[in-house]
Amino acid sequence: MMRKAIAAAVLLLLLAALAGGCTAEEAPATPTDLTEQETVQEPETEPVQEPAPECPHENVSTIIYFFDSPSYTSLSAASHRVSGPGVVAEVCRDCGAVLKEETVDDAEEIRPHSMKKGVCALCGYRTQTEAKQDKRDAPGERTLIAQPDGNGLFFLTLTEQDLVALENAKVKTLLVRGEHGKAVVAVNVKEIRQEVGREAASFSIELSEREDGSLFAGLSLSNTPGRKEELDIDGVTLRFYADRTPDLKIALNPTDGDSLTETDGTWDENGYWTVPYMSEGNYLLIR
Ligand SMILES: [Zn+2]
Ligand SMILES: [Zn+2]
Repeated sequence: MMRKAIAAAVLLLLLAALAGGCTAEEAPATPTDLTEQETVQEPETEPVQEPAPECPHENVSTIIYFFDSPSYTSLSAASHRVSGPGVVAEVCRDCGAVLKEETVDDAEEIRPHSMKKGVCALCGYRTQTEAKQDKRDAPGERTLIAQPDGNGLFFLTLTEQDLVALENAKVKTLLVRGEHGKAVVAVNVKEIRQEVGREAASFSIELSEREDGSLFAGLSLSNTPGRKEELDIDGVTLRFYADRTPDLKIALNPTDGDSLTETDGTWDENGYWTVPYMSEGNYLLIR
């Protein structure tokens, strides 16, 4: 156990060195007093800058490093609970300093599922959708498969807890898909988490892929069961996995209106077209 704790502490220091501008000399001593370790150089993408002489450590994150074989319990379509012995560390998000760390027997954290072929590899949660999951998630992205409602629509509800778990797991974009996964709803996790937090609501996505590649999508916030509020938000786009040529255009046929709105898709080098989510309705492909 002790060796593991030390290994975790070394890992923490390395992470701290990577995450922040502090060098080893400026980092406060940790209980394990390993600050004399060689530090890892800054990531290349970050401009070289003088570390702030005194970081007030205003933004602190708790990071949990579980030891071997923690237990996993499914909580929702998006998340499970991890629990067991581990190291709980408080780390400054600005300078990376480890402010406090403690080995505990019963650490606990909510994390998003790790879905492979419709089953969470960690807790065993299984989607009801017979969905082939052949695309691997890109860094910073995570795919969740919505559940069929029996009437041809697929739905997924996310609570603030689910969104916080995704954000903690460094998921920037959540992809929500139905059976085929050719057209998906892409959610900016941070923006929607803030919106859900402000409204004390949960966030629901309904979608249905049509055979011609078009997509029905509807997003809503709800803070009382059965009551929905349509979402007016920038944090969601729709992705259509299709060929680069010809150019893709979308016509939105909104549920509560009769005029079509046309929008040009934006090509992404990762192999899909993207358009902003505007309102609930059918997003028809025009090529
Ligand atoms: Zn700091
Ligand atoms: Zn799980």
